[in-house]
Amino acid sequence: MASNGSSVLKLPEIKFTKLFINGSFVDSISGKTFETRDPRTGEVIAEVAEGDKQDVDLAVKAAREAFDYGKWPRKSGFERGRIMMKFADLIDEHQEELAILESLDSGKLFLHNKVIDIPGAAHSLRYYAGAADKIHGETLKCSGEFQGYTLKEPIGVVGHIIPWNFPSVMFLSKVAPALAAGCTMIVKPAEQTPLTALYYANLAKEAGIPDGVLNVITGFGSTAGAALCSHMNVDAISFTGSTEVGRLVMEASARSNLKPVSLELGGKSPLIIFNDADVNMAINVAIQAIFYNKGEICIAASRVFVHEGIYDEFIKKITESVKDWVVGDPFDSNVNQGPQVDKKQFEKILRYIEYGKRDGATLLTGGKPCGKKGYFIEPTIFTDVKEDMVIARDEIFGPVMSLMKFKTIEEVIEKANNTIYGLAAGIITNDLNIANRVSRSIRAGIIWINCYTAFDRDCPYGGYKMSGFGRDLGLHALEKYLQEKSVITPIYGSPW
Ligand code: NAD
Repeated sequence: MASNGSSVLKLPEIKFTKLFINGSFVDSISGKTFETRDPRTGEVIAEVAEGDKQDVDLAVKAAREAFDYGKWPRKSGFERGRIMMKFADLIDEHQEELAILESLDSGKLFLHNKVIDIPGAAHSLRYYAGAADKIHGETLKCSGEFQGYTLKEPIGVVGHIIPWNFPSVMFLSKVAPALAAGCTMIVKPAEQTPLTALYYANLAKEAGIPDGVLNVITGFGSTAGAALCSHMNVDAISFTGSTEVGRLVMEASARSNLKPVSLELGGKSPLIIFNDADVNMAINVAIQAIFYNKGEICIAASRVFVHEGIYDEFIKKITESVKDWVVGDPFDSNVNQGPQVDKKQFEKILRYIEYGKRDGATLLTGGKPCGKKGYFIEPTIFTDVKEDMVIARDEIFGPVMSLMKFKTIEEVIEKANNTIYGLAAGIITNDLNIANRVSRSIRAGIIWINCYTAFDRDCPYGGYKMSGFGRDLGLHALEKYLQEKSVITPIYGSPW
């Protein structure tokens, strides 16, 4: 299960470790820094500037001025789009270096970064660049002697707060639509993975994004993140992270200027496998759905419901299949799963595995750390999981699958919905009616039928229930960064 392959790539020099404010890389006012570590070894990669409230104030001031007086919101959408296209081209040019940095900082597979995440980040820019000159209001006939129209205007200064599990994807899926809308912004990347965000800031400047439009404050959530959320001069917050912190973000907004917030939060997503399914295909989907990105993915199908008619066969075969899942160095192309992001996450996952055993679930496979150093954990599968066990209720955010048996469609719909979350769900069946019926019955923002983790830029993405509200991706994401104004004027002598 563990690979001995070693990395062959030349590791890059870490060029950007300071805060990016008003177009320049600067030290934090306090002069403080924090360490970012390589999860393969736990060793320090770089010391990064630790921004806090004072630095957030400076960044917000720069973004405010760029919004109130600068060119970016006043440029034509076409011109904004042209600069964003250049930004995307620069990402392509620096793809390899970005992919290496991302793997070093987060433990994500280098190959995935190179062929999925970094190109995906550039794709986000191109998608929204194409939309920038197609942001229109409506013409309204109104009643009586009036006519009206609406204007879609940029919302203003936006704070983006992002997690560590997909640093590049998250950065651009928030920054790109906000740039297209004409907003200015401050990004607070996760403290575990600050490096690519700073690299993108430099590329944005090179592409011609004016000073003050895009600022990056590296630092901690309870200081820099909280300062952004309660700032009176920030007009909106787009947050992706845990449900627990999402609650704090809303509270800070309520206590300050009631800025609108959008929240992309946690999940405990179900994958439901019916007895007409091709078991081998279902196993491939189930393995990818939980172990992809070492289980550190908000849509992870951590609860797998298998129909009793195929349950025994499924268990036998998945035990064999998971033996081929290789844990090891994320730079090795034979590896399927790299290390967890940091020591805290590693220890949290191992604690949940202990809860599973304590509460009486059967450990089918895995359950232990791998290797002598770093934060590697075996892909872990529990059977005999009961709905009220902690491992079936809490988001673990690691490579831990809980397998449960079901008999009827009504029963599995009820069980699948028995969670505070509502981010995603998967259904494996060849029966069209079952697929349609279950899709409509599950309260979640994204449903996959006969697949999982298939994303498209054009499909809106976000949660129901305590998985949050607001949508990233698609043209829907633009709405978070726009507000609508009605303009009404009299019209005299109209025949209608
Ligand atoms: P987290 O909530 O701990 O941190 C997310 C971000 O919020 C970080 O940048 C952090 O510094 C910041 N933060 C922390 N405290 C803050 C505060 N008081 N005020 C403002 N900002 C604060 O989450 P995490 O551990 O980085 O990420 C894992 C979580 O993110 C999981 O719950 C996962 O499901 C969720 N997630 C959701 C999605 C989605 O699209 N729904 C995507 C990825 C991750």
